[in-house]
Amino acid sequence: MNDYTPIKKMMTEKMVHLYCQDHHDDALCASCQDDLAMMFKHLDACRFKDKGWPCPTCPDRCFTGKDLETMMTVMGYAQEWMEKHPDQAESMMPPTPGQVDTRP
Ligand SMILES: [Zn+2]
Repeated sequence: MNDYTPIKKMMTEKMVHLYCQDHHDDALCASCQDDLAMMFKHLDACRFKDKGWPCPTCPDRCFTGKDLETMMTVMGYAQEWMEKHPDQAESMMPPTPGQVDTRP
C-alpha cells in the first residue's frame, strides 16, 4: 500500500494552484494544467514512490531540464509563500499517510 503518491499529488496540486493564482491571475491556467499533468506523470513513474522522499532529495531525479526548472520554481515559490504567511502555512502542510483519501 503506497500512501505517498496521493499525498505528493495533493501537495503538488496545491503548490501549482498557489503559484498560478499569484502569477497568472487564474485558478489554474492552461499552461499550469500542463505543468501539473507533467508533474503527476513523474510522480506516477517514480521508482522510489514507496519511500516518500521529497523529489528534490531523490537520488533518481527523474525531473530534468525544463521539467526540473518548473518544479523547482513552483516549490520555491510555495516555500517563500509559507515563510511570508506562517499563519496560513498549515494549510500547505502534507497530511500524515493514512489520513488521506486514496480512492482513485
Ligand atoms: Zn498559471
